Amino acid sequence: MLQVKNISFSYDKIPVLKNINFSVNEGENTAIIGESGSGKSTLLKLIYGEYDLDEGQIFWKETEILGPKYNLVTGYDFMKQVTQEFDLMPFITVEENIGKHLSRFYPEEKQKRTEELIKVVELEAFAKTKVKLLSGGQKQRVALARAIARQPEILLLDEPFSHIDNFKKQSLRRNLFEYLKKHNISCVVATHDKEDVLGYADSMIVLDDSEIVAKDTPENLYSNPQKPLIASFFGEFNSINGDIVYAHQLKIVPKSDLKAVVKQCYFKGTHYLIEADLDGEIVFFENDSELSINSMIHLEITRHCR
Ligand code: ADP
Ligand code: MG
Repeated sequence: MLQVKNISFSYDKIPVLKNINFSVNEGENTAIIGESGSGKSTLLKLIYGEYDLDEGQIFWKETEILGPKYNLVTGYDFMKQVTQEFDLMPFITVEENIGKHLSRFYPEEKQKRTEELIKVVELEAFAKTKVKLLSGGQKQRVALARAIARQPEILLLDEPFSHIDNFKKQSLRRNLFEYLKKHNISCVVATHDKEDVLGYADSMIVLDDSEIVAKDTPENLYSNPQKPLIASFFGEFNSINGDIVYAHQLKIVPKSDLKAVVKQCYFKGTHYLIEADLDGEIVFFENDSELSINSMIHLEITRHCR
């Protein structure tokens, strides 16, 4: 398993990560979340061995991951990463980019394996296309297929679906995460998208101000967010009398002490998100239908988080 033991790191003098501790078991999916600039990418790069740590140690099983000072060639066979830059070869085809890493296979086997990988990332129609002709999202998919080509034991993914459009995103996520589970490949996914986490991550790490501020299952963090930062990752929420109340936990009732005035309605597909004024504070709640602006309503908290 992956063990990150009390690591600290700074690029210059300013600490980017402080006292980071966590572990990832074999086959487990761990999500790292945090605002932009919170150090997610840096943490993945440290796990990959791209920089030397100021303090602490990182292990995959018995192997210590060493930075450039102690390890001339960055990277290990058991670990692959997909960075935000992709690093593909532009002048050869999708198929060739993926197959490049499969030279140890017999030609027939190699072809079969390449086809399997292309299917995971749904690029069948582009197998023979040169990578330079692809869109950003398509390139990201090639990078994903290439990273899993040689069955790493652990995969590091930095915002892996950020360039992929909504039409493809859902099925691609399912394909990739199912593939990793099926092959018992551990993964660490840096993301700011809850859709990458819910339903897929076994555990979730929240980075804020250089430190881990929460570490638990997505279920537990969702139902007991403890900090507005965590709640905001999952969706629209309100602070009512010190409690965190998600928009869907606030409902219209015929009568209650919480009187509010409707200010805005936003169509969200499955529901409307209503913005209302509750004693001078803006609150958000979900409703099945649109409401008239400036109408008076009564709200009830159906459930809240501690
Ligand atoms: P995230 O991926 O969560 O957006 P990053 O790990 O990219 O965060 O960045 C964390 C902090 O480190 C930011 O303040 C960023 O400006 C800084 N940083 C990132 N890369 C470098 C670098 N190569 N040199 C100096 N500072 C960097
Ligand atoms: Mg980043």
